[in-house]
Amino acid sequence: MSIAINNASLFKLLREQSEDLGDMLRQQQVAASRSRAILEAVADGVLVTDQNMTITLFNASAERILHLPATQVMGKPLMELTGLFGRSGRDWLETIKRWSKDPSSYQPSETFAEQLELDDHTVVSIHLSPVLLRNEFLGTVSIFRDITYEVQVDRLKTEFIANVSHELRTPMTSVKGYVEIMLMGAAGQITDQQRRFLEIVKSNTERLTVLVNDLLDVSRIEAGRISLNPQPLDLRPLVEEVITDIQRRSREENKPMNIMMQIPHELPRVIGDMERVRQVMSNLVANSYSYTPAGGQIIVRLHSKGDEVQVDVEDNGIGIPKDQQHRIFDRFFRGSDPLVLATAGNGLGLALSKTLIEMHRGRIWFQSEGEPGKGSIFSFTLPIQNV
Ligand code: ADP
Repeated sequence: MSIAINNASLFKLLREQSEDLGDMLRQQQVAASRSRAILEAVADGVLVTDQNMTITLFNASAERILHLPATQVMGKPLMELTGLFGRSGRDWLETIKRWSKDPSSYQPSETFAEQLELDDHTVVSIHLSPVLLRNEFLGTVSIFRDITYEVQVDRLKTEFIANVSHELRTPMTSVKGYVEIMLMGAAGQITDQQRRFLEIVKSNTERLTVLVNDLLDVSRIEAGRISLNPQPLDLRPLVEEVITDIQRRSREENKPMNIMMQIPHELPRVIGDMERVRQVMSNLVANSYSYTPAGGQIIVRLHSKGDEVQVDVEDNGIGIPKDQQHRIFDRFFRGSDPLVLATAGNGLGLALSKTLIEMHRGRIWFQSEGEPGKGSIFSFTLPIQNV
């Protein structure tokens, strides 16, 4: 009798437990299908790979954006997609490969973002991140977005700016020319007051010319219309030229400045476009000159490091306040220091320098404690010529 009762309660217990388990499983399945349905419905393409780089999720938007049916990619190794993106997807695939082969190789919070142009000229942005669960690497997730329209609009805007700046140059040359003729007295005697007014017109025309030229440069570079003319370069004479120019300016403007250079005897040649490298160098030195009060010091240092030559332009001027440092390379950004406001400028110089150095496969950065008098150091690198 007691065995029968025991059996009955054991049976009840087992039944209850299996019902509980069933409930839990159902709940899990519901939660999993809900997450799947959400992933399927998002407007961005989602591609998930597991630890072995097998594609485990490819949602409807990914099908639409990449023009690939999910049936063709689901469960397949990611590397089979290599041909799809041509050269441009290589970095994306390589990053997934690196993370999957050696999960310890990714830095915490490392992510990857890139733009791909597909064969049919669709432009797609990809954002890639690792999927981690308590430090265990579960795979990767890539988000795709079709940005063809945005890129086209941006291109049109850039083209528009390039065309307008180009058209503005002709009338400005003529304004400048006629002002100079009048200043020379070639159009008749002028009074002292007329001379002062014409000088103002002349200096503002010069400012406008610099602005238009910089704008033209920025937009042409963005539109991919500027190509470099790289050649083996000796940086020493370039630095000497730039320093001579700024010393002349310092004399003319009556703003004494101690300008020095430190260059080792043996300095390897770099690969660079001479005019463009000169442009960057003279922009950095001119900034140091402008943003350092009279009597200050500028040092241009060159040294080779690994397979690069590094150029440092150091000054003891107003420095860059910490809260402005993240915007320094933005287009049109200008500081708020009285010395900056009193200096003619358009905030395009550093943006342009950054693009030019990156086109050379170099790097550009700066250091500043953000306190007046402690100045700043702007540095850039250029690849050494391989002998
Ligand atoms: P611009 O000199 O025409 O303003 P830039 O792009 O060359 O444009 O520089 C952007 C801003 O960065 C400047 O307005 C200034 O606030 C800051 N800056 C650049 N170089 C220096 C420097 N050497 N010392 C202090 N501030 C600087």
